Amino acid sequence: MKIYRIAVIPGDGIGKEVVPAAMAVLDKAAQVDGSFQFEWATFPWGCNYYLETGKMMPDDGIEILKGYDQIFLGAVGMPALVPDHISLWGLLIKIRREMQQSINVRPAKLLQGLPSPLRNPNGFDFVVVRENSEGEYAESGGRIHSGQEEVAIQNAIFTRKGTERAMRYAFEMAKSRRQHVTSATKSNGLTYSMPFWDEVFAEVGRDYVEIGQVSNHIDALAAFLVMKPENFDVIVASNLFGDILTDLGGAIMGSIGIAPAANLNIERKYPSMFEPVHGSAPDIAGKGIANPLGQIWTGKMMLDFLGYPELGLKVLDAIEATLAQGIKTGDLGGTATLQDVTDAVLHHLQ
Ligand code: ATP
Ligand code: MG
Repeated sequence: MKIYRIAVIPGDGIGKEVVPAAMAVLDKAAQVDGSFQFEWATFPWGCNYYLETGKMMPDDGIEILKGYDQIFLGAVGMPALVPDHISLWGLLIKIRREMQQSINVRPAKLLQGLPSPLRNPNGFDFVVVRENSEGEYAESGGRIHSGQEEVAIQNAIFTRKGTERAMRYAFEMAKSRRQHVTSATKSNGLTYSMPFWDEVFAEVGRDYVEIGQVSNHIDALAAFLVMKPENFDVIVASNLFGDILTDLGGAIMGSIGIAPAANLNIERKYPSMFEPVHGSAPDIAGKGIANPLGQIWTGKMMLDFLGYPELGLKVLDAIEATLAQGIKTGDLGGTATLQDVTDAVLHHLQ
């Protein structure tokens, strides 16, 4: 029997509630498959750990995590007691960068029974492939002069390697989907980085002539995602543009509480990290009412990455069957608890 060793970081707030729910679903999925098992190792890192030790994770935390196949993370953040830059940079971003998780994948799909804010939602189903290691978030810049002369400079860094890697990943993904890639650009305003981005998109695209390819400016693309989201299949975007588009993706699905995400080390040299889009939601933590579907769908993405896409589809089917039955948490307009939703997903997963 194949064993997958997974490092689990439930983190803070509702992370501590939704992660065990998703682990139960993943254990059930393994049982349904019958050819593998998960071995979970849970680490109590996050803001409580910081309040006790002054660190979000131990100094050798990255080395410890490298010993596992993948990382399954809930959410970190306790804005009332720990500043966001400490919780983010001390754990999440540290893991993403040191494990070279250079691709962030975030699907958005209209599931049956979801209260999308769109007026006429026509079954959309798209995936944003976001460059996750450089671009506008490259941490390069500074401030010069002072007073009325003060200037802030923020450099965006686009390497050929990083740009090409994201585009190739998007085209490969489109092969097994609906054969279409849209590139998010803004070459009419950003006159160095985005013409380069467009050039690399065209170059890589020549290796995939059978795949439809279009460039849209990010402003128009944001509007299209609201007006005609069904037109999109795979969208490849820079770090900042992808960040913005994926929040929009979560919003048009109906709740950030269901949006899944994966931070991938596509070379498979280090573990990847599976982490939903939502945060620690301190306003509803500890009440048993958080929506576990984002974390469960994130677990489905881990199954896909481990090589079990058909099993992943069964998990998504069980999520849809649960929603179709009207079993929904408060963020989706329902009255079900986290446990009710988890039990229903477990029941439908056969
Ligand atoms: P972070 O900085 O960690 O992203 P945040 O405060 O910006 O945190 P969230 O923690 O995602 O964002 O919370 C945003 C809103 O969405 C909150 O009102 C929260 O209660 C709600 N929310 C987030 N996740 C869920 C969930 N799984 N179930 C129900 N509501 C959720
Ligand atoms: Mg936030």
